[in-house]
Amino acid sequence: MMAFNPFLFNTHDLPRRPGEMREYFLEIDDHDPMGFDVISIPDYEPIDIELKLESVSDGILVTAAIQAEAVGECTRCLDPVEFSIDESFQELFEYEVDYRQQPKKKKGEPADDGLEETADEVKQMVGEMIDLEPSVRDAIILNLPINPLCDPDCPGLCPDCGIKWTLLPEEHAHVAADIRWAGLEGWKSPEA
Ligand SMILES: [Zn+2]
Ligand SMILES: [Zn+2]
Repeated sequence: MMAFNPFLFNTHDLPRRPGEMREYFLEIDDHDPMGFDVISIPDYEPIDIELKLESVSDGILVTAAIQAEAVGECTRCLDPVEFSIDESFQELFEYEVDYRQQPKKKKGEPADDGLEETADEVKQMVGEMIDLEPSVRDAIILNLPINPLCDPDCPGLCPDCGIKWTLLPEEHAHVAADIRWAGLEGWKSPEA
């Protein structure tokens, strides 16, 4: 893990007046690999983000379009596989709540006011910073194929010799060899 988070974005340039808007283009090329063992955005592939920030009354509405190239291997034949990510998300980042300014809870009000649930769903800014990492990670990971294939019809490998079916003759089989060995039962190699 890197200590530096390349997905932290400083929103200082956006005026805090509802209706204000700013657009940015980020090319993030110093990130950790993102994905699974079989397919991921490697650390040498940039993650491009078209970012739109809009001031709303209680925070910043973030709209992002993400483009990146994943590389992996076919889960049937192990050939290299490339996969393009082209996804977008929209998320509200609320201004940091100053709890000292929150009205005190009246006596008799139920303790469970749903705040915990909201805290999970709505993201919070930290000062002027927004952390795009969790949303970018979701947009990538939820859209990567779990079983990447070089071709939907990839026939894979012969389970006996591990050679690709596409390279083997149509009549390729190991059954004949197995029968021959069965016929030699009891026979020992001179070297054994
Ligand atoms: Zn394949
Ligand atoms: Zn074979």
